[in-house]
Amino acid sequence: MTEAIPQPRTEVAADQFEDSAPASAKPGLLVLAPLRLEANAVRRGLTRPGSQVLHTGMGATRARKSADKRPPHPFGAMVVMGTAAGLSDDLSPGDLVVATEVSDGETTVPLPGAGLLVAELRRAGLTARAGRVITVQKLVKSSQRLRLAADGYLAADMETAALLGTIRNTGDGRPVAVIRAVSDAGFGPGLASSGLIRGGIAALRSLRRAAPVAEKWAAACRERTVLLAGPRSFCAGVERAIEIVERALEMRGAPVYVRKQIVHNTRVVSDLEQRGAVFVDELDEVPDNATVVFSAHGVSPAVRDDASGRGLSVIDATCPLVSKVHAEARRFAREGYTVALIGHAGHEEVEGTLGEAPSSTVLVQTAEDVAKLSVDDPAKIAYLMQTTLAIDEAADVAGALRDKFPQMRAPGSDDICYATTNRQAAVRAVAAEADLVLVAGSANSSNSVRLVERSQRAGTPAHLIDGATDIDVSWLEGVSVVGLTAGASAPPAVVTEIIEALSGLGTVTVTERVTTTESVQFGLPREVRR
Ligand code: SF4
Repeated sequence: MTEAIPQPRTEVAADQFEDSAPASAKPGLLVLAPLRLEANAVRRGLTRPGSQVLHTGMGATRARKSADKRPPHPFGAMVVMGTAAGLSDDLSPGDLVVATEVSDGETTVPLPGAGLLVAELRRAGLTARAGRVITVQKLVKSSQRLRLAADGYLAADMETAALLGTIRNTGDGRPVAVIRAVSDAGFGPGLASSGLIRGGIAALRSLRRAAPVAEKWAAACRERTVLLAGPRSFCAGVERAIEIVERALEMRGAPVYVRKQIVHNTRVVSDLEQRGAVFVDELDEVPDNATVVFSAHGVSPAVRDDASGRGLSVIDATCPLVSKVHAEARRFAREGYTVALIGHAGHEEVEGTLGEAPSSTVLVQTAEDVAKLSVDDPAKIAYLMQTTLAIDEAADVAGALRDKFPQMRAPGSDDICYATTNRQAAVRAVAAEADLVLVAGSANSSNSVRLVERSQRAGTPAHLIDGATDIDVSWLEGVSVVGLTAGASAPPAVVTEIIEALSGLGTVTVTERVTTTESVQFGLPREVRR
């Protein structure tokens, strides 16, 4: 049985514009829509002056002819929008497919940055997926659907490859995206005609709702420069912690338990989870005789005692620079000092350090905390810091402590680690030149959050993103220079992913601003040495 894509068959002139653009409007979105019904649905959803709709006609021949014509007004970016046959059994009528690439079976056109558009459509409440789209010459049949699905295609249409081929050949280089709304999905024996009509209506409704999202995407399109901060991304302590878990999995087999997130990054954690690491909040979730890894942020002696009492096999991935702060806390407490720990309440590193000498240590987060602080012997006070603080804010708190307790002892060397210091200096350098700064990192990553704050204090808007799909394209409107960095726990691959996504919005020139280079390395604990 043949399943038809429920597209209206009305023959239309291929040179007709549905145009809402005043002549004076600045270049905006040009939508190429094969069928009049699709063009009308899109036009009803458009909201911005400057948007234009070109009704191209059904099939490759008409599409090619239409794409050769120029719209009456200048435009900044193009989106092909229409209905399609869904090729995956988990697609439903009305679902949107944003093409990662479009093929006609011979030539493939990659479309980077589809993920950005998918994320925007989802934020607008639509169901959207990124995937490969194939352009076929005739309406797809059941047997053909199965073959195309097996080849990894998500949707099939009859025009996009022809439109893109013509657009690319014109060489205007403007950003292009493809949004296809599924009108006919599934592999069953064929849909009743009422189902086809319902599917078509659902698809047209989704196209209308997707139109303002396409406009938002087009408004963010332009050529831009990405200024990469150097150094960025993994530090030596994070690399060591990840390697410890990887080696533990290799040498002892899964599962390997890890107390807390090994480092504060969702990508790293989910990657290790897939390889057999089990992340737990507390040791009572770890079975007897199992291997448990302590995270890079360190643990208090109480946790170590608990693990040893339970006979757990412990591998300690605490960063040596965190261990140094623990050792200082123990030493000052032993010598009878009150330790003022400058840090953030609730952070795992702070909890671990506080646990070294709980009766001698007091947490101070702000200069106001210092003003309220009273100690038994003002001559016997020392301060320590969390390793991932903002340098200038921590210096303010330390200055307030010094003013109040002039005899205060300082740590032997800086507690804010080299990686935190270097990344903050590097982000400051790019923030000075950028219109916007993107920081790759997770929300619970202290050093990543500090990079956002550092940029904002320098007067440059900044956003923390776990990955490219967290980018709201409205941030990029009018932005020509994007500063890009990554916190010490964010993988370098995320930076690459973000650059690739930005390149879907127009040509990207990547330039690096290196403020210093790093060569720090830490040895592995003996349990995982080969
Ligand atoms: S940020 Fe600093 S303290 Fe934290 S793991 Fe990296 S090097 Fe160690």
